[in-house]
Amino acid sequence: MLAAPLRSLPRPSRLTAPLGLKGRSAEAAATLGLDTVGDLLEHLPDRHLDRREGRDLASLAPGEEATVGVVVKEIASRPMRRRRGVRVEARVADDSGPALAIWFNQPWVARQLAPGSNVLLRGALKGRNEFHVREWESFEAADAPVHTRGLVAMYPAAAGITKRLLRELAQRARDAVRDAAEPLPASLRVAERLPDRPAALAAAHFPDADAEFETGRRRLAFEELLLLELALGRRRRARDAARRGSPLELSGELVDSWHASLPFELTGEQRTAVAEVDRDLAAEQAMQRLLMGEVGSGKTVVALHAMLRAVESGRQAALMAPTETLAEQHLATLDRLLGGLVPIALLTGSTPAPRRRELLGRLESGELGLLVGTHALIEPPVRFRDLAVTVIDEEHRFGVRQRDALVAKAPEGRTPHLLHLTATPIPRTLELTSYGDLETTALRELPSGRRPVETHVVSGERARARAYERIREEIGRGRQCFVVCPLVEESEALQAHAATVEAERLRVSEFRDHRVALVHGQLPSRDKAAAMREFASGSADVLVATSVIEVGIDVPNATVMLIEEAERYGLSQLHQLRGRVGRGAHGGLCVLFGDAKLPRLEAIATETDGFRLAEIDLELRGAGEVLGTRQSGLPRLKFATLPEDEELLVLGRAWAERLLEQDPELEAADNMLLRAAVDARFGPQASEAPEPSFDERSAVGRQPRSQV
Ligand code: ADP
Ligand code: MG
Repeated sequence: MLAAPLRSLPRPSRLTAPLGLKGRSAEAAATLGLDTVGDLLEHLPDRHLDRREGRDLASLAPGEEATVGVVVKEIASRPMRRRRGVRVEARVADDSGPALAIWFNQPWVARQLAPGSNVLLRGALKGRNEFHVREWESFEAADAPVHTRGLVAMYPAAAGITKRLLRELAQRARDAVRDAAEPLPASLRVAERLPDRPAALAAAHFPDADAEFETGRRRLAFEELLLLELALGRRRRARDAARRGSPLELSGELVDSWHASLPFELTGEQRTAVAEVDRDLAAEQAMQRLLMGEVGSGKTVVALHAMLRAVESGRQAALMAPTETLAEQHLATLDRLLGGLVPIALLTGSTPAPRRRELLGRLESGELGLLVGTHALIEPPVRFRDLAVTVIDEEHRFGVRQRDALVAKAPEGRTPHLLHLTATPIPRTLELTSYGDLETTALRELPSGRRPVETHVVSGERARARAYERIREEIGRGRQCFVVCPLVEESEALQAHAATVEAERLRVSEFRDHRVALVHGQLPSRDKAAAMREFASGSADVLVATSVIEVGIDVPNATVMLIEEAERYGLSQLHQLRGRVGRGAHGGLCVLFGDAKLPRLEAIATETDGFRLAEIDLELRGAGEVLGTRQSGLPRLKFATLPEDEELLVLGRAWAERLLEQDPELEAADNMLLRAAVDARFGPQASEAPEPSFDERSAVGRQPRSQV
């Protein structure tokens, strides 16, 4: 070490040196996050233009864009003939012959280029041997042309700082790549055959061959995602250590006979889910598991399994749902699945006071083992004797405080096991980033084998008339139909108004011979319930609704759904809405009014799998958009783009787990630089960062690459 020549040691100070810009361009650089040479080197090009081939003037076909190297013979600026502005004209020549080079509205060029200059011109030949210049640079024999020759870097630019300037700055900083410190342990780099950091930076900025850029970028993206996963992994570990659970015994006394009593066999996925839950419940640390699966995928059975494990151990379990309707539905399903095996009760805001008092008493004595309800569960008077398992349905509809309030119902010093249920599938990319602190289980198949809903996107009056005709036929066969009105995000009142107007229109026109009910979020809950009942009982044929029907309606006889202005809805919302039909024996039809060419609508028409749709949604919108990057505690990614780099993310997670397994604090000599990089990038407090709420927990992602 000591014998090594000094000048070969990295000099990180070169990377922390300021860029040396002044005034407006310094401000513009700052908006791109570029203050130092190091920042600049981490500002990668989006792509490179291939300008490797230099051409002779004589070989150019008209209109063909090319780079030529010429000598200026004579140059002048003159007013344009037909338009306002000036053009600079230069007589130029190369070995193959002469041409007239033209610059439009750049009078300064005439001052910058003197006769006799060597210059590279990028542009195309137009009529009468004129070469229209798009980009140019003068060069002397020793120069490496950066704007017009070779693989030309295209940097994300901003107002006040051009690609051209960024290219020049990068050239100037070129030597500093050697100072970049290598955070990755050598064993990892060897195993994954990754170039070192200086080589990766050089390849990404100054590639000699097409593939080099991507090789360099991938290495940097992998490193970035590894750092992210290490930060998340350390946070998860710190939290796990602090979360003393209540390990359950899993005697099987109750649960085995319950399984035997079920009228169906669990699907393979349900069996896997149950096994994962059991493993969690028996562990010292409290379970934190997310169970995702579409409506009807059989989540409730798995949840009840977890809840019964608590009862089996003489403890208690609670399920919290976001609305009364959902809580009631859960109770009905659970009741049916339990077949009277264990008492279960419902507690909501509308539970009458005497009943409520009685419930609270039985809960506190421990006589009541299972409770289902709404927010009413977290009110202070609700006290459990020994709450060990909590299930939260559609948790994203609750805030952290509500969840914590439920968790706090467990005995002092204990964290109850927590199972989250969601019908909105979470793509793998988000699972591994925003949801990095939850274990996940997915139920992809539907046990009842529901038939896919036939889906059409249509527009125009004729298609509309046909759709109504089709609905009338269905009604004629005794079926029912939803009409979903446009989403008005800004105002629920406007949306309600539109629904009311539409219901009135349909009552006197298309469905004048049928019974039309109306439901929207502004109705008093009594009226809402009445409308729902009317539809559920079959006394209304058509239900005109706003997006309030997204959750919680189960009418197997409804077979058609018509969605107005479908482009206003998000992909997952459309899928949730569509899930309201085709639940019975009759199949289903969904007609969306909108532009069939819109990628989102094309996706919903052709794809029925909710998990696949969630992935498409992520691809269409980009990870940063899906849940909003701003409120996520995580910084934007510089090198990786999600979900495109998902494969690197998965690899990063695997390596993070392996490294933390062996060296939880990353304090071994080989890992020290890695640890420093994690701290520098994701904060030294990463392991103590507050856990984000489900709403806030959101995607990370780079800005979409700028279009050049
Ligand atoms: P989710 O909560 O995911 O919407 P549920 O658990 O309510 O789904 O299940 C939907 C329906 O399917 C219920 O009637 C349930 O009894 C039934 N079910 C669940 N698992 C199975 C299975 N393995 N085989 C047959 N039916 C099932
Ligand atoms: Mg359910």
